Amino acid sequence: MSYEQVRQTDPATADALEGEVKRQENTLAMIASENHVSEAVLEAQGSELTNKYAEGYPGERYYAGCGPADAVESLAIERAKELWGAEHVNVQPHSGTQANTGVYLAMLEPGDKILSLELEHGGHLSHGHPANFTGKTYKVEQYEVDAETGYIDYEGIKAQAEAFEPDIIVSGYSAYPREVDFERIQEAADAVDAYHLADIAHITGLVAAGVHRSPVGVADFVTGSTHKTIRAGRGGIIMCGEEHAGAIDAAVFPGAQGGPLMHNIAGKAVGFNEALSPDFEDYAQQVVDNAEALGSRLQEHGFSLVSGGTDTHLVLIDLRDSHPDTTGTVAEEALEEVGIVLNKNTVPGETRSPFNPSGIRAGTPALTTRGFDEAACERVADIIYRVVDAPDDEDLKAEAAAEVEELCAAYPLYDREGSLVDFE
Ligand SMILES: *Cc1c(COP(=O)(O)O)cnc(C)c1O
Repeated sequence: MSYEQVRQTDPATADALEGEVKRQENTLAMIASENHVSEAVLEAQGSELTNKYAEGYPGERYYAGCGPADAVESLAIERAKELWGAEHVNVQPHSGTQANTGVYLAMLEPGDKILSLELEHGGHLSHGHPANFTGKTYKVEQYEVDAETGYIDYEGIKAQAEAFEPDIIVSGYSAYPREVDFERIQEAADAVDAYHLADIAHITGLVAAGVHRSPVGVADFVTGSTHKTIRAGRGGIIMCGEEHAGAIDAAVFPGAQGGPLMHNIAGKAVGFNEALSPDFEDYAQQVVDNAEALGSRLQEHGFSLVSGGTDTHLVLIDLRDSHPDTTGTVAEEALEEVGIVLNKNTVPGETRSPFNPSGIRAGTPALTTRGFDEAACERVADIIYRVVDAPDDEDLKAEAAAEVEELCAAYPLYDREGSLVDFE
C-alpha cells in the first residue's frame, strides 16, 4: 500500500500511515479483537461516501442525494440478515460500544438495572463499568466466572438475577475463551422478566460461520463489532426481532448518533458479502483450530490457561502459576520487542491491577487471515514461551525476533506489488 496523495500534501501523516502498514506486515497481530480486512473493504471505507450526509434510514432520509447511500446501506442490511438470520438489523452504530448504547437507550430509563460480567472476569467497559456512561447512568451489579473452572456460572447468574431483579442481563464478553450458552442466560432473564442483550462483539464471525452457537432468535438483542472475527471494517451492528425494530432505530439515530458513517457502512456491505462465501466458514473453523493448537502448546510449556483451554478464537494465560514474578505488562512488552503484538489482561481473581495485570490474552483471527495453520501457531506458542520465560534475555529475544521475521515472510500480508495477499 502506498499513500501517494497523502505523501504529497502531508509527509508526516504519510510516514505514520506507511509505518503502520510495515508494522502490520512485519509483526504478528495477536490482539484477539484485531484482524486484517481485504483490500476491497479498505477501498470501500476510503470511498467518497465519507462526504455524504445520510441521517435517517434507507428510503427515509433527512437529506437529498441519498440514492447510492440507500443502496449501500440496504446491501449491508440484507447481507447481515442472511449472515446471522436476524429479523431486523441496524448497521449504523459507529462501534460495538455505540451498538450497546443504542440498546440501553432504547430499552432502559436512567436508574434501571443492568446485570453483567465483571470487567476483570472478561466483561466489557460498555456493560456498566463506573468509568463508562453505563456505570454513571444505570444501577449495575456484576457476575463473575466460576472461581474453580473459569466458566460462566449460569446457575449463579440465575440466583443473582432473582435477588437483583435486573431490567437487562448482558452476556457476551471480551476475554472469555469458552463457548457461551445463550439459552441458559435467556432462562435467567425470562425468570425475572428482564431483557437479554447478547454482545457478540468478539465472535460475530464465528457465529456467522456457525462455529459458535448463535444468540440470534434467543436473546432479545444481539450487538456486535464488525472488525474482530468478521473482516468488515471498524464498526458496530445491532440485531433484534421486528417488535423492537422501531425503538432500536430511533435510539441509534437520532438517539445516540448523527449522520451514519456511510463509508464504513460500505465496508460492512463488502465485508459481509465476503463472509457469505463458503470460504469464510473454513476461515472461522481454522481460527478456532488455531487457537486450540496455540493453547495446547502453551499448556505443554507449563502455562495455565483460564478455563483450561479454549473453544473460540482466543486464549487467556494466567501467568501467576507458571511465572509468578512476571506481570502481563512485562510479558506484553517483551513480546512486542520480538514482534508478537498481544495485550496484557486481567484474569479472574486478579491480584494486581488493570494497568499491570497477571495475564495476557492472545487471539488467532489475524494470524489465520495471513494463512497460519496449527503448526505455525505452535511455533508461535514456542516463541511466546521462550520470551515470557526470559523477558530480559537480549540474545534470546534477538533469536525470537528473527524467527518472527521468518514467519512474517512465510505468511506475508502483502505481495511484491504491495497488494494485500488474497487471503482465501
Ligand atoms: C470489543 C468489544 C465491544 C466493542 O468495542 P468497540 O471498540 O466500541 O467497537 C463491545 N463489547 C465487547 C464485549 C467487546 O469485546
